[in-house]
Amino acid sequence: MSRAFVEEVPERIVFGVGAEARVADELVACGAERVLLLALERHRAGADRIAAALGARCAGVHTALRQHVPEAQAEAARAVARSLRADWVVAHGGGTPIGFAKAIALTEPVKVAAVPTTYAGSERTNIWGLTTAEGKRTGRDDRVRPALVVYDPALTAGLPRDLTLHSLYNALAHSVEALYDATAPAAVRARAEASVAPLIEGIRTLAADPADLEGRSEALYGAYLAASALDGATMGLHHKLAHVLGGLFDTPHATTHALLLPYVLGFNGRAAPDAMARLRPVLGEDPPAALYDLSRDLGVPIRLSALGLTRDDLEAVVEAALARPYANPRPVTAVDLRRLLWDAWHERRPSLSGWRMPLDAPGPHGGIELGLRGAPLEDARVAVICVHGRGAAAERILRDVSDRAGPQEDVVFVAPQASDNVWYPKGFTAPIDENQPWLDSALAVLDAVWARVARHLPPERIVLVGFSQGACLSLTWLKRGGGRPSALLAWAGAALDLPGDWPVAGQAVYLSKSAGDPYIPPERFEQTRAALTAAGARLSVHVEPGDAHWIYDADADALRRAIAEARR
Ligand code: NAD
Repeated sequence: MSRAFVEEVPERIVFGVGAEARVADELVACGAERVLLLALERHRAGADRIAAALGARCAGVHTALRQHVPEAQAEAARAVARSLRADWVVAHGGGTPIGFAKAIALTEPVKVAAVPTTYAGSERTNIWGLTTAEGKRTGRDDRVRPALVVYDPALTAGLPRDLTLHSLYNALAHSVEALYDATAPAAVRARAEASVAPLIEGIRTLAADPADLEGRSEALYGAYLAASALDGATMGLHHKLAHVLGGLFDTPHATTHALLLPYVLGFNGRAAPDAMARLRPVLGEDPPAALYDLSRDLGVPIRLSALGLTRDDLEAVVEAALARPYANPRPVTAVDLRRLLWDAWHERRPSLSGWRMPLDAPGPHGGIELGLRGAPLEDARVAVICVHGRGAAAERILRDVSDRAGPQEDVVFVAPQASDNVWYPKGFTAPIDENQPWLDSALAVLDAVWARVARHLPPERIVLVGFSQGACLSLTWLKRGGGRPSALLAWAGAALDLPGDWPVAGQAVYLSKSAGDPYIPPERFEQTRAALTAAGARLSVHVEPGDAHWIYDADADALRRAIAEARR
């Protein structure tokens, strides 16, 4: 059974499948005499149904509406309301028709009703917005708050899958920001918290089947709760960024919210422990990471370029977002904001269990922060330096390695990040020069990471792990005498640079790959093995059956052994 209820708060809320059929009677009961209906032309069928039910009480249907309520169109809609002597305006649709109804109510003596068909939440707020030549203006005014809201989940069944998911993330963003706002009334925060489960359930259900009416009902119920969170709390950095992106680049409203949410949540997470605690029952231990994984799994955009921006646009976003101060649980500096946007640019997975520290290194990989996870570096007994592969990221290898290590309270996992997620552009068997200056810069990054970790721990307590391109790089760094870790684990890789001396006598090295790994030529793997053996390394080798390019159980066992060895 899907939900159905009526509420007076004091606005009248009617919720239930088929509730649209009650709109005309509800308006009559409110004393409406001359109703102007507003809808986008392409979705006017619903407004026409209500017009027919209203009969003589329908003064007209107006469909000349545009997103973000441009001033000229708003003025035209006001003129229509005046000429028809409308006493009520009824918006049927998403934030656009509701925005127009509010624009009319701002200057004309009308009451507003809303029949929302998206999850944007404008129907429960006293917030109006108008777009002028100077940009978007918003404000709060109780005259624009809809006095009657009719939620009919059946009306949302036609929302396409992507728009559905993005609009639900938009609703979730309202709740998340309300949870950040410690000054919001307890009832508002309770509603925000209560919205999370139905919104996430709606996202999961409707991603699989956008026509699922039960899923539609839960989703709209979550959006209804989130809308009152938007009304009763102060929005922060997330909304600021969404408005800046919308204002500067005309990015689609709901998609912009969807893309930003995991990153801003990751940025604010540690500064908002209460919000995280309220999200955990639904999203698990690490809400920003869980939301990012959900987006990735469902195909919700997570890369900032999906909004049509270029790298050069990011600085304008930083400037505009900092131009006027706004509430946020964590203070925001230009450096922070730049980093947040770069994370979204590179789709780096946000996580509460990780943190960052600056790292200086020369060349194209220079100036990128170090990702950390686990015990504080200052207190750790063992450090595991993790080097990601081509196209991956520090956050990813941190998760891959620390998950395989299992619970290790005294271990810090440390991962540098390649610029553009690639350490060097050509294959590892290409002539060394063709991979410069990237290769030298990448080796310098490993030097810098080593030096940073070695400030706190002796070499025998440091384990180095690389996967794929990260394994090739780590082996090459070892060959060039970068350092002598307790062990080097090179998963699915081989050395770039073979000839010459290998200063590895007695060094523990673990090499692995699958038998048919398409990325690791067997002869290069054998040459690496031979060079290490000849130089006196304590070598162990694992060759996994099959042809995958991945991390194997044997690799995880070797990792746990290496950590245990380093801890002694
Ligand atoms: P919208 O009304 O423009 O709808 C977005 C898209 O959904 C449109 O392309 C529309 O064609 C489609 N759509 C709507 N109903 C549909 C249906 N039943 N079937 C198929 N497609 C449908 O915008 P929105 O996403 O609902 O809201 C965003 C706008 O609302 C922005 O301008 C935003 O600033 C504003 N907003 C205002 C407030 C407020 O409190 N004032 C709150 C949230 C959003």
